[in-house]
Amino acid sequence: MAEGNRKRQSSKSEIVVVSALKDWSCAECGGGGGSLLTMDDRGPLCLGCADLSHLVFLPAGDAALTRRARKASGLSAVVVRFSRARKRYERQGILVEEEALERAEAECLADADARARHRERERSRRTEHDLAFQAEMVKEIVRLFPGCPRDRAEEVARHTGARGSGRVGRSAAGRAFDPKALGLAVAASVRHRDTGYDELLMSGLDRAEARLLVRDEVERILEEWGNA
Ligand SMILES: [Zn+2]
Repeated sequence: MAEGNRKRQSSKSEIVVVSALKDWSCAECGGGGGSLLTMDDRGPLCLGCADLSHLVFLPAGDAALTRRARKASGLSAVVVRFSRARKRYERQGILVEEEALERAEAECLADADARARHRERERSRRTEHDLAFQAEMVKEIVRLFPGCPRDRAEEVARHTGARGSGRVGRSAAGRAFDPKALGLAVAASVRHRDTGYDELLMSGLDRAEARLLVRDEVERILEEWGNA
């Protein structure tokens, strides 16, 4: 990401290796045909004559790996190829010492591991947060409805808490603890679990009608729980 702005690299003298498009022969040893060459005063040189043949090619594409490999490599070169279509040289990657590449790969892997561990920590912290949130809510429900069975309070908190916790902000959490909101959540639970509401819905009654039919019963139970 930030690597894209490393202009310093290109202004600094760097060894440029060209990916050959045509046949060529080495100005020093007379050999030729390799895919990579460097330009010398005398003409093209093969990597052997240019003392670069021990380097390995790392294709462009992974900015962090490239940066690390180049940094770890005592000797490195940038590989370019002329694009006939764009009429300019384009970077293909770099040549670095094999050991440097291996070290860079290990560092990037360690980063990936660290990131995975970080995500795991975040996830478990969120779970702990959710549980604490739910426990708080159970307490609040029981405070408002002392007669509400504990497992029912836990169920309501689980359902409501799942929506009110986690990444949702504090205001949403605050709303979730609002007595009115909690009352509505408990009422919904009573409606579904302690009345014939669900069956009425299943029988084709619309929601408003079904609610009206069970309203008195819901209120009676809430009152009973509230005054226990
Ligand atoms: Zn040569």
